[in-house]
Amino acid sequence: MIAMRLSFLLSAPIAVLTAAACAAPTDLPVNVPKTNPAVRAVVQNISQKNLQTTVERLAAFPTRHTLSGANGADAAATYLEGEFAKIAAASGGRLRVQKQTWIQPAGNRMPTPATLTNVLATLPGTAVPERIIVVSGHYDSRATDVMDAKSPAPGANDDASGVAAVLELARAMAASKTPFAATVVFAAVTGEEQGLYGSTHLAETLKADGKTVVAMLTNDIVGNSRGTDGKRDASHVRVFSAGYDPGAEARTLTRQRAAGTDADSPARVLARATKDAAKRYVSGFGVELVYRNDRYGRGGDHSPFLNGGYPFAVRLTEPNEDWSHQHQNVRTDNGKQFGDLPQFVDYAYLRRVAQVNAAIVAETASAPASPANVRIVGDLSATTTLLWDASPESVGGYEILIRRTTAPDWERAISVGANEKRAALAFSKDDYLFAVRAVGKNGARGLPVVPVAAAR
Ligand SMILES: [Zn+2]
Repeated sequence: MIAMRLSFLLSAPIAVLTAAACAAPTDLPVNVPKTNPAVRAVVQNISQKNLQTTVERLAAFPTRHTLSGANGADAAATYLEGEFAKIAAASGGRLRVQKQTWIQPAGNRMPTPATLTNVLATLPGTAVPERIIVVSGHYDSRATDVMDAKSPAPGANDDASGVAAVLELARAMAASKTPFAATVVFAAVTGEEQGLYGSTHLAETLKADGKTVVAMLTNDIVGNSRGTDGKRDASHVRVFSAGYDPGAEARTLTRQRAAGTDADSPARVLARATKDAAKRYVSGFGVELVYRNDRYGRGGDHSPFLNGGYPFAVRLTEPNEDWSHQHQNVRTDNGKQFGDLPQFVDYAYLRRVAQVNAAIVAETASAPASPANVRIVGDLSATTTLLWDASPESVGGYEILIRRTTAPDWERAISVGANEKRAALAFSKDDYLFAVRAVGKNGARGLPVVPVAAAR
């Protein structure tokens, strides 16, 4: 039905597209590929064996509880630093490894101040290093009692799985023959279970340094495909996204409301882009969008970014959590094994989740800057005119994304040429929502930009 309604209002100097272009709307007029070879290579390079090794090594520490000290969390941080350093050496030093250490004041789940450590590895962008993508997992673990720093807490799925995905993505991206335009920070953070301390510290230091984080993804509990009820689903990963930007200023909100784009928060734009990237780069595995910031009543490491002025922040988590293997002392009750042990991780599943990360992170790092100042003209007509400022970088073209106001995800992508800064569409702005994204000549899609109402 939508295809039947697709036609263009033609008037200079807007994009002139033919009926043939409409029939294949994702073919850019300048022969830009649908996927980027470097991103494809990173996705294919994700190794299940490496993921398993990392999970097993992390789970072998007696505990990685944030307050477990020298033989626990500190030893795990040193192990991770060493693994990142190996990748850095293999990459000829392009990857930079850093232990980020600070004194965390006492808090709810912190009886006394403690020295905490994040392990960070940065792959600097070659064209636009100031544009940063953060991908994280937390290496701290816990037993049944969150204050128990002594009992065994293997934390294989929560969250050695997420850390393993981050480490493996670092390896695959650092090994890429094609460099990435933007910077990627691979973060193994601590203190999640005590109160998101590591992620909060990372977000705050990036903010204090004036850094621009264009996307943040946290991987937490991404390695198990079988739920507490025994049901197995290895077909997809959930991506949680908030429907709001806590830091948006009143003026921005007013313009968003005027354009009716309140279902298009930055986190949701990133979540949809993650699903789209998975569709184009990871075959046979999908993303299920969940329209809330996190699982009900629970938190994660994307939230300090969301709340700290970096609203493009989402959480990845498996579809069916098994609570007998999370936050549980390792024990046997009536013949049932409790505890977050490596034997309950589905490594083939974890590989698929790591590939979804690879798709969105490597593609966003390869894409040109998003078009700025995207706006929608408010004339009284049943059509839509979009305007934007050209990407400051060389682009292969732009794509206009379109969906009905009640549709959860983009339904259509229409291509326009690299020199266009305007598109007129035979879709009513009353009934449809829109976004514009830049497409690199290399085929990489940038994050879409949702229009605001144009000034009258
Ligand atoms: Zn966790």
